[in-house]
Amino acid sequence: MDALPDSLKLDFLPRLTGSLSTPARQNPTVAMIEAAYQHHKLHARYINCEVSAAELADAVRGVQALGWIGFNCSIPHKQAIIPLLSGLGRSASLIGAVNCVVIRDDKLIGENTDGIGFLKSLRHLTDPAGKRFVLLGAGGAARAIAVELALAGASHLTLVNRNRARAEEVAKLVADNTKTTAEGLGWDKAFALPADTDILVNATSIGFYPDTSAMPNVVLESLRPGMIVADVIPNPPHTALLQAASERGCVTLDGLGMLVYQGVASIEHWMGEAVDASVMRSKLEDIFRISRAS
Ligand code: NDP
Repeated sequence: MDALPDSLKLDFLPRLTGSLSTPARQNPTVAMIEAAYQHHKLHARYINCEVSAAELADAVRGVQALGWIGFNCSIPHKQAIIPLLSGLGRSASLIGAVNCVVIRDDKLIGENTDGIGFLKSLRHLTDPAGKRFVLLGAGGAARAIAVELALAGASHLTLVNRNRARAEEVAKLVADNTKTTAEGLGWDKAFALPADTDILVNATSIGFYPDTSAMPNVVLESLRPGMIVADVIPNPPHTALLQAASERGCVTLDGLGMLVYQGVASIEHWMGEAVDASVMRSKLEDIFRISRAS
């Protein structure tokens, strides 16, 4: 018997993934992930969806009915999604927030790839095991990063936050659940880094576009040459903090790496595929260059 003609072998049903958030319009994740799908010739699509808090449960039922294999959820759904899920991965359960959902065999499993994304980006520079960190901020990003650093064997975390109670809460979460020691401090004046700090991480929203000259209130003289200074802000990647740190001889790490690697980790959760981070990073660099030029 003749082989089937090519037209009958064609597969017009891609694996569907996407993002549920609001506001969704300026979230560049779709461009970054679709660049990876195209580069690796994965028969898959990623759809950016505007979903309000009131519509979240319907949207989740909808994507399940449509056969999606998974999705990201972003602001403001990272905690609200949890009661709609069948279970949580270890990090998501400790962090108490989900940004990636895997749909398999009618089950929805919540994962958190934000902290993993930061960790994978940091590992290009150093192994966090045994290191002492100062984390500025105690919101969702700081919480995810704190948990992953602790699970990766960081020796000590100092969380510094305007709202001190939030910093203390994250420090307690870390100290109660991992071997890492942690303390939460308030932040009402310029913060001087302890002399034994190995790595500073800005995990606040200070410096995000369009407020690009904004700078976390730290004593710049306490940044030592050779110290690693990381920022979670992806746009602009070279924040005022990273510029100042670089001028003082620090090694800097921008927030694009975290964004790219949380996407890499999401695709791995959904499809078991390890995609090329550099394709995703160059797509984001193009987008942020264009958006600032226009
Ligand atoms: P949250 O709203 O949960 O937390 C914001 C944090 O920033 C809080 O700790 C808040 O302090 C602090 N903060 C905000 N403004 C100020 C200020 N003027 N002075 C001092 N502290 C301030 O946000 P997220 O944690 O979810 O996100 C934080 C940043 O991380 C965002 O800019 C986001 O874009 C970025 N991000 C980047 C990712 C990446 O992949 N690169 C992934 C996820 C987030 P307080 O508690 O006192 O209000």
